[in-house]
Amino acid sequence: MDTIVSIMQSSIKARRQQFDVRLRHIRHEQLCCDSLRLRQVLINVLSNASKFTPPGGTVSFDIEETASENAAKAWFKFTVRDTGIGIKPEFLRDIFKPFTREKDSRIDKTEGSGLGMAISKKIVDLMGGTIEVSSEVGTGTEFTISLPLQISELELGNFKFPDLKIIVVDDDVIVCEHTTELLRQIGIRSDWETGGQRAVQKVLAAHQAGEPYDAVILDCRMPDQDGVETAAIIRSAISEPLPIILISAYDSADVETKARQAGVNGFMTKPVFMSTLCRALQRYVLGQAAAYEQKSKTDFSGKRFLLVEDNVLNREIAVEMLESTGAVVESACDGAEGAAKFAAAPAGYYDLLLMDVQMPVMNGYEATQKIRASAKSDARTVPIVAMTADAFAEDIIEAKKAGMNSHLAKPLNLATLVREINKQLQKH
Ligand code: ADP
Repeated sequence: MDTIVSIMQSSIKARRQQFDVRLRHIRHEQLCCDSLRLRQVLINVLSNASKFTPPGGTVSFDIEETASENAAKAWFKFTVRDTGIGIKPEFLRDIFKPFTREKDSRIDKTEGSGLGMAISKKIVDLMGGTIEVSSEVGTGTEFTISLPLQISELELGNFKFPDLKIIVVDDDVIVCEHTTELLRQIGIRSDWETGGQRAVQKVLAAHQAGEPYDAVILDCRMPDQDGVETAAIIRSAISEPLPIILISAYDSADVETKARQAGVNGFMTKPVFMSTLCRALQRYVLGQAAAYEQKSKTDFSGKRFLLVEDNVLNREIAVEMLESTGAVVESACDGAEGAAKFAAAPAGYYDLLLMDVQMPVMNGYEATQKIRASAKSDARTVPIVAMTADAFAEDIIEAKKAGMNSHLAKPLNLATLVREINKQLQKH
């Protein structure tokens, strides 16, 4: 789901649309399925929703776990709604047939093959689920996909939290209710508010009454006063440390610098699953590194990575971690050696580069710039992931500027490493 939301961000951003991502009644988060295919279906439906909705419109993505009669299977209902141009009834009947595209002057310019819906229907059928659509011209379209998914034996991990009190602030009541319900399940007391201004009053009142909150979870985009403004006001009014976590379905890199300046401690991406929430609380509220290590089954056999890292011990650990995924790992001791190795290899030889930032001879930024500027056909496309000890916003921006695709904080953790590599490999 994280991948899907992040893939959607560029289209949502380009069309300045509102993107609502909500969860309801989720009881199972660890599931076994053909995630690639499921993602293909959801991305197809979601990107159509964004594509056929004018700038400024709304796309919503709701994920609900519904009742299941089979103890080994969980049923999920994914609903994608848009406020777009809608689909004419005569076309709607045939939408799942191959090569159907509506002949419409309004969408002539939008490219596509007319195969997406037919393929999605096929995949959903094979997964034993259903896909339905309803639409009204000029009002919008709604796709509903219901699927059984195998419940995985994998444990979520053992999260233990002390007695905490948290306030959740989001203009979407469903998000508030869902998040406070998750908090209740892990024994954390919580309140919610749908507006930034009222949230500030509540935080200050609790503080003055001697019953302060232990953390604030703030939605990034809210109509009356957005998350960053709200964070800044809370920070200027309260001098005691109070962790503030920003949640967003949008690209947080855009607001990260401003948010950090306003006093935001950390970020969470919507949708907020139990695992997302627990990890964020451990990291930002309890100040611990996430104890949660996902036992990932990811297999990178057949992939070759170049690791550029000057510290011998760090290099050994990273090689070990990467090799545990089945990948072939080559390494270089500094940026210059890394850039030279990349230059000497045939195009497409490396599937991904992991680049330390601070290194002697040539640092990671310079090495990346050198690689990106070279004439090889994969010079601009090979994913380069930065690794830095201090994950400051400035470093992240610097890494992006140098042409790096993403960023990992050191010390490396296998679960995040695998997740990031997966994310990068899927994009390319
Ligand atoms: P394409 O590659 O053309 O997008 P799809 O099979 O995904 O192919 O979609 C087929 C057609 O269905 C689109 O060209 C469009 O006319 C219509 N369509 C799909 N989703 C929507 C939507 N959310 N709003 C309006 N029209 C849609």
